[in-house]
Amino acid sequence: MIKVEHLYKKFGSNEVLTDISTDIKKGEVVSIIGPSGSGKSTFLRCLNMLEIPTSGKVIINGQDLTGPKKDVQKIRQGIGMVFQHFHLFPHLTVLENLTYAPMKVKGESKSLAEEKARALLLRVGLAEKEKAYPSSLSGGQKQRVAIARALAMEPELMLFDEPTSALDPEMVKEVLDVMKDLAKSGMTMAVVTHEMGFAREVADRVLFLDHGILVEEGKPLEFFASPKTERARDFLEKVL
Ligand code: ADP
Ligand code: MG
Repeated sequence: MIKVEHLYKKFGSNEVLTDISTDIKKGEVVSIIGPSGSGKSTFLRCLNMLEIPTSGKVIINGQDLTGPKKDVQKIRQGIGMVFQHFHLFPHLTVLENLTYAPMKVKGESKSLAEEKARALLLRVGLAEKEKAYPSSLSGGQKQRVAIARALAMEPELMLFDEPTSALDPEMVKEVLDVMKDLAKSGMTMAVVTHEMGFAREVADRVLFLDHGILVEEGKPLEFFASPKTERARDFLEKVL
């Protein structure tokens, strides 16, 4: 579904991603882990062109996002993104947060958008919050709304950038549970996370980045039990 070929990203003279090649299959859940500043967010953002790669290719469903004839707006509609800090629309209710883009961007009718939004709120356990404003929600609830909002666009691919890092510990599980359900439903997911438990249990594959280099990738069981590289061993010693 996604093919990344020789991806490089520089900010000025700072090379943040160096020659990354990998792919993500339909329905696969990939966890991206690595030290702070290793380029995880930049990599994720290159997958939906929130950052423009300096060179290399990102091909999604056969469409070269980095090529000359690309409709980035259109491609981005098929990719949901969830951030550390939620980014909900503060002046809209929970329900309106979910219906806004489907109505505005996809031209869905209000009644259809609301019907789908309510089904999504049920799915993330927040059916009773549709009239609430984001400011009245807990962090875990906000993040579940953010996930539901991304799903309202019916994406083929979901990108998560440290979705639980800003949450109080007791709220991490409710968000991870929603993500686990999503993974089980067959969603293709790329998840930057410090939750090694999630990476181990839910991911089909782990990518380990260090200094912008894809140092190692593999099945979680193998990666966590016997990392092949010194750098991965060092990292795991610190976080596990
Ligand atoms: P991670 O998500 O792994 O912590 P990032 O992708 O956020 O790492 O950052 C990797 C490197 O790129 C860091 O050195 C960071 O300072 C730099 N960087 C990220 N975004 C920008 C930007 N917009 N402009 C300049 N430098 C950036
Ligand atoms: Mg980051």
